[in-house]
Parts: sequence; C-alpha cells; structure tokens
Amino acid sequence: MSFLLTCPNCGPRDVNEFAYAGEVTTRPSEPPDLRELTKYVYFRRNVAGVQREWWYHRFGCEIWFLADRDTRTNEVLGVELPVAAEPKAAPEPAIPDTPAV
Ligand SMILES: [Zn+2]
Repeated sequence: MSFLLTCPNCGPRDVNEFAYAGEVTTRPSEPPDLRELTKYVYFRRNVAGVQREWWYHRFGCEIWFLADRDTRTNEVLGVELPVAAEPKAAPEPAIPDTPAV
C-alpha cells in the first residue's frame, strides 16, 4: 500500500515517511467512569469512509498533524496542523487578609 500524503510543512511525500497514529478520539469527561474509560482506551469507530486521523512525519520534519482520509480509497481530502486547546484559566490566588494590628 502506498499513496501520497501531504505534510503541512513539507508538502506531498510517500506515506512510508509517516507514522499513522490512529483516528481522532474524544477524551472522556473527568473523572471518567469505567465504561467511558474502557470505550476511550479500547474502542474505535473504524469507519469505511472519511475519518479524521493523527499522523506523524517521522522521516521528515517530525511534526504531528491531522488528516481527513477516506479509508476505502486512501484518498487524503485535507491536512492541517492541530490547534492548541485554550488553556484553562488559573484560579485567582487567594490573598490572605492582613492581620489586624
Ligand atoms: Zn513534514
């Protein structure tokens, strides 16, 4: 199996330059119950069609990116760099009251 995959940084390359890291999944809520955790760790949708996947350019620029690939034909419909999640705002530190003199 060989096809071209376009690295967002390097352009079209043979797929053997990349490492496939699976379909994109959604993290369970925190804290997950056993059913949610089992589903997250062991189960995949495994669609016959277009799915969003993680890829790593291991013999190139060594970046992680997302690709929309048709699993039936290996046609890659689009690639993009992941967008960092918004950092959660840290709680304001509590200012201790000054002791009364
Ligand atoms: Zn690259």
